[in-house]
Amino acid sequence: MTPALSSLLDDVLRRNAGEPEFHQAAREVLGSLGPVIEANPHYARAAVLERMTEPERQLIFRVPWTDDEGNIRVNRGFRVEFNSALGPYKGGLRFHPSVTLGTVKFLGFEQIFKNALTGLPIGGGKGGSDFDPKGRSDAEVMRFCQSFMTELYRHLGEYTDVPAGDIGVGGREIGYLFGQYKRITNRYESGVLTGKGVGWGGSLVRTEATGFGAVVFAQRMLATRGRSFDGARVLVSGSGNVALYAIQKVHQLGGTVMACSDSSGVVYDRDGIDVELLRRLKEVERARLSEYAARRPSADYRANGDIWALAAETPIDVAIPCATQNELDATAATTLAGNGVAAVVEGANMPCTPEAVHVLRAAGVLFAPGKAANAGGVATSALEMQQNASRDAWTLEYAEQRLDDIMTAIHDSCAETAEQYGAPGDYVLGANVAGFVRVADAMLALGVI
Ligand code: GLU
Repeated sequence: MTPALSSLLDDVLRRNAGEPEFHQAAREVLGSLGPVIEANPHYARAAVLERMTEPERQLIFRVPWTDDEGNIRVNRGFRVEFNSALGPYKGGLRFHPSVTLGTVKFLGFEQIFKNALTGLPIGGGKGGSDFDPKGRSDAEVMRFCQSFMTELYRHLGEYTDVPAGDIGVGGREIGYLFGQYKRITNRYESGVLTGKGVGWGGSLVRTEATGFGAVVFAQRMLATRGRSFDGARVLVSGSGNVALYAIQKVHQLGGTVMACSDSSGVVYDRDGIDVELLRRLKEVERARLSEYAARRPSADYRANGDIWALAAETPIDVAIPCATQNELDATAATTLAGNGVAAVVEGANMPCTPEAVHVLRAAGVLFAPGKAANAGGVATSALEMQQNASRDAWTLEYAEQRLDDIMTAIHDSCAETAEQYGAPGDYVLGANVAGFVRVADAMLALGVI
């Protein structure tokens, strides 16, 4: 890192004390930008990075709600409106007990570059709450969502800020949030939230888009080494929305996903994960993963197991972490790299620790950062906004083709940018630089704001 960038990073760390995930994301991005900042001194003159690392607006609010027993509960709500140079703030809401301002800031910062990479007109933001939906009834989730939106609605709008889902926020929550927004504003403003049900303004393929897109990205990346998913053996961590559709796409492309996981354990299936069974358990029954093994003779459940350790027991070609941040550490990376894994593709946001990324890259394993590989979800959100703006609904074929084209374009732009900066195959540098340049040029054009 150049002295100017490292003094900027010191400043970011100091001004955002106690936010380690944001520090990690900022360090990773700034660590890639030396060559582009040196070659373009006008970025430094306009303090583009100083502005880009400071959110335009940070909202923190109280979310009171009543549980089924009549007790009054209080959670904390967040929305970080990070950058609107390219379009309205865009990014999901995460409901999970681990959510803090620092988590939301890390996710919002990543989202700026991810959204820029899609080539679509969306700025970066993120939000959420420390509310834990696990074990809550539908009525409790509804009351929470209504209270959350009663405060947040004043900051939203299809031209202002457009949330969507993330961990803990799926179709059910988006429905309750949209209903409350509609009720308060008396406007059927479809484009104010994405991830809506396909019957009321949602887009086909939005649900599948993050997982599908990550696998399309991986397919392009594998092709640069003359490899494909055909016959490949794959590990996919997680079992939520991203994991589910990554598994489905790997199977469509002729690969087999041997295992997936949740926060309590790992399921290993000798015959490959049965996506339909998994989908039913997770989305319809909202059951734990242990239930999968109970219903499938070819599967074993390992309570508290480590999914990446499986690479030492059985041949694995590709790993796709789709659970949460920092779930794949240096030990896991060493196991994967030492057992012949060809590629690691981040389906989640920042699932690999910096040390893990270092191990993988040093071992020559292909590595795709989440801000590039998992951009299919937000890209399809932008396509949902397009459909809402034109009061139209596209066919499945058209929506899926657009997603495929966008993922291919993101892959190619990362690969070409890495090549241009003398680091062929370095998708981290490619994604950070290509995303940064698009946002930075728009910020320069819009003046000091
Ligand atoms: N939460 C998703 C992400 O990390 C999707 C955001 C969106 O669709 O706005 O990109």
